[in-house]
Parts: sequence; structure tokens; C-alpha cells
Amino acid sequence: MAAENLNLKEILIRDRNLSLLQKATAFSEFLHKNTQLERNFYFRIIDSPAANRVMAQDVLSGKTREMYMFGSNNYLGLANHPYVREKVARVCKKYGTGLGGPPSLNGYTSLHRALEERLSAFKKKEDTLLFSSGYAANIGLVNGMTDRRDLCLYDDYSHASFYDGLKGNKCKSVSFEHNNVDHLEAALEKYDSYVNTFVAVEGVYSMDGDMAPLDQVCQVAKRHNAMVVLDDAHGTGLVGKNGRGTAEHFGVEEDIDIVLGTFSKVFALNGAFVSSEKPIIDYLRYFARSYMFSASLPPVCIAAIDAVMDLIEDEPQRRNTLYENVQYTVDALKDHVTFACSPDAAIIAIRVPARVNIRELAYEFHCKGIFINSIEYPAVSVHQQRFRISMMATHTKEDINYLVDVIKHIWDRHGIS
Ligand code: PMP
Repeated sequence: MAAENLNLKEILIRDRNLSLLQKATAFSEFLHKNTQLERNFYFRIIDSPAANRVMAQDVLSGKTREMYMFGSNNYLGLANHPYVREKVARVCKKYGTGLGGPPSLNGYTSLHRALEERLSAFKKKEDTLLFSSGYAANIGLVNGMTDRRDLCLYDDYSHASFYDGLKGNKCKSVSFEHNNVDHLEAALEKYDSYVNTFVAVEGVYSMDGDMAPLDQVCQVAKRHNAMVVLDDAHGTGLVGKNGRGTAEHFGVEEDIDIVLGTFSKVFALNGAFVSSEKPIIDYLRYFARSYMFSASLPPVCIAAIDAVMDLIEDEPQRRNTLYENVQYTVDALKDHVTFACSPDAAIIAIRVPARVNIRELAYEFHCKGIFINSIEYPAVSVHQQRFRISMMATHTKEDINYLVDVIKHIWDRHGIS
């Protein structure tokens, strides 16, 4: 088959007899032909901290310009906090930059251990281990915790890293409808002959900002002797009275068997952690391969995470300001657009009807100086395409008013009700 005649679906089918170069060339041609690259707002270059306003390179003019940032998960606005920077500088002076190896061999400092202990207390678990990213944590966790005689039931909307963890894994895996506890229970009843059963959910789902009904999930799992595995990437540091996460919000911290959090959202850093009972963590240290065979987070990153932990614990008003901003935005939008938002999370997903070309809208947001993420096919079906607004505590009322005015203007122009 001539590479230049392939469409996206054909390119994505893996078992065609195409060399890598053929596939890559066809994809590159597809990208240029079908997406008018100047209207492709992925991989944008930012030359400033991820604050409420950023300096971004404009793909249209090639020049750097200020943009309103509504696309960063730096929810509490801590990405450039002076306290964090100062702590990082101090640790950098003492430890230098990286460690040059995985924790098992040469990458484990007293800072790493202290952070593990701090996170264990934060998540009310016995022990914790640190991963280099949330992606690596899910891969390592799924592979480390499951065996061929185990069952893993997981929410349909689980993150790609969880799906990738399941790929090539020997356990039986079955998805249940998003947030449908009856469907989960039916699956638990149907598949009841496994050694270990895991029920995997997320605290806050990143695409719609909605929460798992964790209290019900825990009850159902308990009835069927299943372990609850919670990926609280978007809830850790934010949700719950003390920011301890979605399990705190639902009052079920004790009922979660294994909890994962990332440092890529509220912490605006890199890395992730998994907390559980001590024997399980000891076991994962050896059998979660993305932990065992990957270099440790550098001490400067550990210092930054620790500093953010201080701010989460000592400055709860940041979360209040964020929630005020979310509420303010929701109130301003509610008579004009269709959106999904959980009041305790910081994500607002505005739906775009399938008949509308979402790229046109993305282009208009860009022209108006708004940095916002569009979620489009094939990431979601065309009926689920949306813009995903990430709110931050550092957004001003002026930032939000501007965003809302632009949304209304674009929605009116395209006749979207
Ligand atoms: N889990 C969830 C639920 C996520 O949303 C993400 C990131 N979007 C990850 C895991 C991966 O985290 P990281 O970016 O730290 O690799």
C-alpha cells in the first residue's frame, strides 16, 4: 500500500506491513494535510512559569506573547512560589542535581525517606514509595500488584497509564461503566473465582472533573472482599477538608487499600507515589519494575514536593480561593454553555456539539489570547469533544471575566446554545 494514501485509521492499525519510516511519513503527511498546522495548538511552547498569565510562542506569528492560562493543572498556583524556589535552591546547594541511579542501588537519600514517611501520614497509610511519574507509577503498580489468577475491575474512564499497565499483564481485566456502582457490583458477582480482586477508580476524573462515588465503591468492594485501588492524581493536595484527597472528602481513607497520587498537578512538579500497608509497599519495591529499574527523583524535586506539602498543610486558604474561583466561573457560565464540573475539583469541561469544528473554536480562543486545552477525537468520540478549563487559585476575577466573555462571544458566533 502506498504510504501517502493512508488515512488516520489505517495508519493507526499496527499490523500492516509498513516500515516505521513509511508509517511515520504517512502520519506526518496526514498531520500536515488535515490539520492546517497553524491551527494545531498542541505542543505549544511556553517561556515563563505556569502562572495565570504566561508568555507563549504564537504559532501564527512566531512571536512570544502574553496569554491567559486556563490549561495548566498548577491548581494552587504553586509552580513558581518563592518558598518552594528557596527550598529547592538550598537543597541543590547541598545535594547537587540528580542521583544517577534507581533507589535500590544509589538513588535513595534521607530526603526521599522523610518524604515517603510524610506522605504515608498524609494518606493515613503505613508506607509509601516514590515513582518518577504518575505514568510510571500506574504501570509499576498494576504490574506489581496483579498476578495471572487475579481480577482487575476498572472504570471505563481510567487514565491511559492504567490501561497501559494492564496491557501485556496476565491478570483478567474487565472495565465497568463510568461511575456506575451497580455495573461494578454485577461484575463482582459475575467474576468471583479469582485469588485477588482489585477495583480501580480515580478520585477526580480529569476529562470531566467529576468524582468517583468512593463511599459506594468502597461499600460494594467490601461486600465482595475486593481491594480498592485509588488513583487520586487530581484530588491529592486539593480535595478534602485538609487536602488529603478524595478519600478524605468521602470519609473513606481507611477503606482504600492502595492509593496513588501524582506530583504533576497541584504540586506542579514531576513524580508520583503509592501508599498502602507496609508489606504491600515492601513487595512493590521489588516487583513494581518501573520503580526498581528507574532512576530516583532528584533531591531538588523531593525538596520542591516537600515545600509544597508545607504550603498545602499551612495555607488552606489557597484551596478556598481556588474553590471561590471555580464557583465564580460556574455561576458566570451556567446560563450560557453546557459544562460538567464537580464543585470540589478544579476542572470545568465545556461540551462542544459534534457538528461544530472544535479546531475552529480552538483557533478563536488562541486569537483572543486564551490558552485552553481542547479534547478532541481520537482522544474522545466526536460526541464528547470539549474544552477543558483548569482553574487556578491565582486566577484573578479579571482573568475569569475575560475567559467567560470570550466563551460567550465564540458560542454566540457559532450558534451554540
Ligand atoms: N493518573 C491520572 C488520573 C492522570 O490524570 C495522570 C496525568 N494526566 C496520570 C495518572 C499520569 O501522571 P503524570 O503526568 O505524573 O505521569
